[in-house]
Amino acid sequence: RGQELSLEKLSQALCLCSDVDEQLKQLVSLFQFSENERKLRELLVTLLQEVFFEFFPGCEVLPFGSSVNSFEVHGCDLDLFLDLEHTKTFQASARKPQEEKQSEDKAAMDTLSEDKAALDTLSEDSILSDVDLESASASEILELIAAVLRQCVPGVHGVQALTSARLPVVKFQHKESLLQGDISINNRLAFCNTRLLQLYAEVDDRVRPLVYTLRYWAKQKELAGNPFGGGPLLNNYALTLLVLFFLQTRSPPVLPAVAQLKELADEGEKAIIDGWDCSFPKDSSKMEPSCNLENLRSLLAEFFHVFTDYDFASTVISLREGQAFPLKDILASETSSMLKLGALNIQDPFELSHNVAGNVNEKIALRFQSRCRDAAKYCRSLQYQRKSSKGKTWGLVRLFQRGDNTEISITEEGPAAGDGLVIYLPSPLLVLTEEQRRKLCGTEGVQQLCFQKVCTALRFVLQDVLKCSVSQDEDNENMANAEQAVLREEVPCVGAKRILAEEDSSVPDSKRPRLEAVSTREEKVSWHCTICHKVWLGRRKMRRELQRNAAPSLLQDVDSLQVEAEVTEAIRQQEHGSGPAQPLLMFRVCIVSAGAASQDCRTSLCFTPFQDPVALFQDFFHFLQVFLPKTVMKHIKKHGLNSSV
Ligand code: ATP
Ligand code: MG
Repeated sequence: RGQELSLEKLSQALCLCSDVDEQLKQLVSLFQFSENERKLRELLVTLLQEVFFEFFPGCEVLPFGSSVNSFEVHGCDLDLFLDLEHTKTFQASARKPQEEKQSEDKAAMDTLSEDKAALDTLSEDSILSDVDLESASASEILELIAAVLRQCVPGVHGVQALTSARLPVVKFQHKESLLQGDISINNRLAFCNTRLLQLYAEVDDRVRPLVYTLRYWAKQKELAGNPFGGGPLLNNYALTLLVLFFLQTRSPPVLPAVAQLKELADEGEKAIIDGWDCSFPKDSSKMEPSCNLENLRSLLAEFFHVFTDYDFASTVISLREGQAFPLKDILASETSSMLKLGALNIQDPFELSHNVAGNVNEKIALRFQSRCRDAAKYCRSLQYQRKSSKGKTWGLVRLFQRGDNTEISITEEGPAAGDGLVIYLPSPLLVLTEEQRRKLCGTEGVQQLCFQKVCTALRFVLQDVLKCSVSQDEDNENMANAEQAVLREEVPCVGAKRILAEEDSSVPDSKRPRLEAVSTREEKVSWHCTICHKVWLGRRKMRRELQRNAAPSLLQDVDSLQVEAEVTEAIRQQEHGSGPAQPLLMFRVCIVSAGAASQDCRTSLCFTPFQDPVALFQDFFHFLQVFLPKTVMKHIKKHGLNSSV
């Protein structure tokens, strides 16, 4: 997810620029979507719109967040808001008694902007006839959306309704492009603040280069970018607001305050959402260009300078007013006094009672200031300001280097799924026939059996195929014990095993598992892994070469896992010969079963780097995203679900 480009390649491209301003602009070109990436997202939105419209007449699928807010990076997630307002109106009118209905139907239909013919298809057997959208809970609606995605949208997998998350969403992945999508239903404000960011990006062309640069800097310094929300780091939205606030407070300002924008909104642009005033113009051409003429190089240096000694804890940053207020003033105001105050207080531009940085703890806020201090100091050097004539790194490149702060804060808080990058593995049950699956689904211990098989296969792939060293996470003995129990088959997966054993007449009676009580808890283990070789680099080429050189007779019955292990070995030889290799990257993988409630037995793997001195984790993770699901499944298929571990 996110910045796929390695720091190495990025640095090469930036060093070719002629000055720092060009480097900032170049960063945008390197990270923004290509025409094809944009088209792909548009096509996916259109597909979803068409399918959902069948089930939720009048609904609208509206993209928001980084896909459309002008600050996209390759592979960023696709945030979607499914607007069901019109569907609710229609459903309410369809459910009214006939006589009331006839007079109101016309009015309701007129409010629907979409294809009326499609609305006529709403019949008794529609999915909507079972659910009243007005009274249904958000969880029920999200489950419904998940069901539609699973059953009716081609090319989509990994569908999961996260109904208890801070912002409940349905997650999915588009198979072909590996694009991760999130669908939410009560998110009109986010749709609106996305448009505000777009507008600011249009108003002044210094906004995008600065935001991209500061997002990347903050990510490199482990200050921002919680990949799945949660955790103590700044999220991209909060960081972007901080940059916009900085530009509002230059003298003269580069950007107007949100309150000033409101004055420019005409009648059609006035909007109140959830009680908050969200009026601002749609069109940036109404706005006067700024008289501020500072260049990008000095604005960036000033950003670091301003926030080095900023009193974050006793002020509230208000983009609405384009000023920072002392806490006591804020506490006196009725709406703002509801703000959850913390180490960093950035008031949402519309939802004034919301601190978008409320999750940031004191440690991260202090670290933010300290990294700003280092950066401000570096920005005063000639190395920042001028291109090196001796081919040394200069300008932004050194700002992005991790330097001596390679320690990664997020792992200090322990392995929480919210901190890492996640890969979903498909259910091992997929290796069975349709009939076997039907028999097994929902049986006692099927979850544990699947989990046990996935752990075994995963360990094999990491250890034997990719030559990582794998050990149990010492910080997490409970988890390790759980894994041991699973591997020793103490955890009862007997119901499922019995069915499989009955199917398999080769298993002697004495070996058939006994039927015991069944635990339905969520399974979870955590491993520490070290990798010493870039096993993802040049893999395809190496595989082709090995296959070309293999004797034709050997190719007939190839074990593809064996081939992959040989490919790794060849890469290892190429990198280091037979000499010893140093650890390149250390990471933790936390393996969690889909949970007792779920019937499909998928597993999530949460990867968190804890030593990554040369910033390889992103590249390695992207490789694993494709490699792991297929090789783990190959292992399970080869050994069967019923074999002993
Ligand atoms: P990326 O996905 O690249 O991290 P993003 O801007 O899409 O960037 P998300 O975390 O996916 O960030 O959030 C999507 C959108 O949800 C944001 O653009 C913003 O509109 C809204 N949002 C996110 N976090 C908050 C927050 N803390 N408060 C209010 N709105 C938020
Ligand atoms: Mg996003």
